[in-house]
Amino acid sequence: MPQLHLLGTGASISDPHRTTTMLAVTDGPSTVVIDCGGDVVQRLLAAGIALDTIEALIITHEHPDHVGGFPLFMEKIWLAPRRRPIPIYGIHAALDQARRTFATFDTSTWEGLPERIWHEVPHTPGALVLEDVHWRITAAPVVHPVPNIGLRIESKTSGGVVAYSCDTEPTPSVVELGREADLLVHEANGYVAGVHSSPEQAARVAREAHARRLLLVHLPPGLTEADLAEARAHFAATELGEELGTYAF
Ligand SMILES: [Zn+2]
Ligand SMILES: [Zn+2]
Repeated sequence: MPQLHLLGTGASISDPHRTTTMLAVTDGPSTVVIDCGGDVVQRLLAAGIALDTIEALIITHEHPDHVGGFPLFMEKIWLAPRRRPIPIYGIHAALDQARRTFATFDTSTWEGLPERIWHEVPHTPGALVLEDVHWRITAAPVVHPVPNIGLRIESKTSGGVVAYSCDTEPTPSVVELGREADLLVHEANGYVAGVHSSPEQAARVAREAHARRLLLVHLPPGLTEADLAEARAHFAATELGEELGTYAF
């Protein structure tokens, strides 16, 4: 049964209880990791995910809270020790940031460092990110100060769907990504025009998409259940994403 793992649920403002927003989906021997703004390998281990199941890393956009941990990710999987190549998917600007960040380190003596296989995803609605026996993952542009994508992850095992807004103001493209999704993971950083969404706005997107369950992530410090009343008036199945929470789909 495929599972969504919320490896981190926090905003880029530091929080004692939530690290930066990072996700993984797992299905038996296949794990796809989404973003690496923090120590994502430690979070994978905390979630009980074996590192040798990592099939791919998706990087959504160039901001530090989504890609800043990339060199650490590479160092840790190398030491795990992983030797097979690591496929990395993302739009051009996100991959470029990862490449530049990694290039600042001298890795010439890291013997056996896994080869990075870069897969550039078109920054267009419905773009195919990856498809294999477990997953079909597509992307669409969202609204943020830098190029960014949301994701739709379909499990070929269960037929279940997870959608992820990533960082965005409320946008119809997430309604499309989240159409009839079992789990809509939507940011609720607090509304900033062109940048972020509020819990209420995320709930409106979930309702419009006919999603079944809304998990709020990219949460600012101090946001509690008590702040969800308005959101739940729009969409009853609204929850704060749980740090290291696991959700079947
Ligand atoms: Zn961002
Ligand atoms: Zn962010």
